[in-house]
Amino acid sequence: MKNFKVSVVVPAFNEEGNIPRLANELVNVLKQYKSYEIIFINDGSVDNTLDTIKKLRLHNKNIHYISLSRNFGHQYALKAGLDSATGDFVISMDADLQHPVNLIPTLIQEWQNGYDIVYTVRTDKKTESLFKRSTSKLYYKIFNFLTGLNMPSGTADFRGMDKKAVQILKNMPEKTLFLRGLVFWMGFKQKALSYQVHPRFTGKSAYTLKKMMSLAMAGATSFSVKPLRIAIYAGFIVAVLGCLFTAYVLYMKLFGGATISGWASIMCVFLILGGSQLFMMGIIGEYIGMIFMEMKKRPSYIVDETSLNQDK
Ligand code: UDP
Ligand code: MG
Repeated sequence: MKNFKVSVVVPAFNEEGNIPRLANELVNVLKQYKSYEIIFINDGSVDNTLDTIKKLRLHNKNIHYISLSRNFGHQYALKAGLDSATGDFVISMDADLQHPVNLIPTLIQEWQNGYDIVYTVRTDKKTESLFKRSTSKLYYKIFNFLTGLNMPSGTADFRGMDKKAVQILKNMPEKTLFLRGLVFWMGFKQKALSYQVHPRFTGKSAYTLKKMMSLAMAGATSFSVKPLRIAIYAGFIVAVLGCLFTAYVLYMKLFGGATISGWASIMCVFLILGGSQLFMMGIIGEYIGMIFMEMKKRPSYIVDETSLNQDK
């Protein structure tokens, strides 16, 4: 296949310092292909990200922008880009040059070799903080345990997909997005490539601990009901232990004589039961919250302005 179009989708939140260099590197790599488009999604930046993209577009009409009405978050910005991409092969990557542009020809080559999804796994060296590396590792372990999938630790949102896979993502109605999980879950012929993360070129990471937690929760709850099941098992075990303890208490009351002492044991039972009940209610609450959010059927993102044709 020679006459194909490549799309590159790049979510950007306050990335004015990185975009010109990234665009330049991308164009240098992509111009060898017949046709390409680069779509930047301005995710409610408060710096000059949008103007920077518009300026680049003056010189190269293959560069497009979608500007969202506010900051919706990386996953939603990415979805906005995927929804509008028209390429036969659609690549997504970060705007901060952490994802090596020179891996793109390899992604495309593997697609040409017959893989539908070519995803990347970062080989964690010292570029990311120890905290980020260890929490990420732990998270993939928990995610795989909950979902029964086997997503490699360090799977990134730097990947290429055939347009048939992109079409499936476009048609997915769900609002709670954990895209790398969805893509992995989708199946098809997938190929993993490893890459070395570069340090961020300029600016600082917008993935705060709070945003990471919320992505982690979205991944866990939207992919599996196992936490609910674990809550049932845990509840059952606590109830059995409670029955045994009750039997002991009754025995002591009827035949043991001394029943006044035991403040410590009462407090222990009270605290453990109270804590585990709250925890399990929290799990149930997360799922109810997710049902509520999905039920409202609000759009995942709102486009303010774009250089792309909006009629799909
Ligand atoms: N990003 C975004 N919206 C956000 C946060 C991040 O579009 O609310 C983009 C950001 O511009 C970058 C990518 O998502 O292109 C990854 O973000 P970041 O580099 O902050 O995350 P990290 O690499 O630290 O995980
Ligand atoms: Mg980054």
